[in-house]
Amino acid sequence: MKTIIEATDTDPKHEVELLCGACSYDLDESEIASDTCANCGTKLNLKQNTAIHVTSIPLFATAEI
Ligand SMILES: [Zn+2]
Repeated sequence: MKTIIEATDTDPKHEVELLCGACSYDLDESEIASDTCANCGTKLNLKQNTAIHVTSIPLFATAEI
């Protein structure tokens, strides 16, 4: 399941993906709530992937004089 988190003053826009730690199956919201992975059947141990959207971030900072 992917969740988009919009940019704030301190964080760029990013995407968080929750996967099964054992098989990397992409879990949906109801599957995350259960104790075992819907795909491989092992005890759920979540793995989180974060993708940062850098396109809207300035590539260089301007110093104040
Ligand atoms: Zn699994």
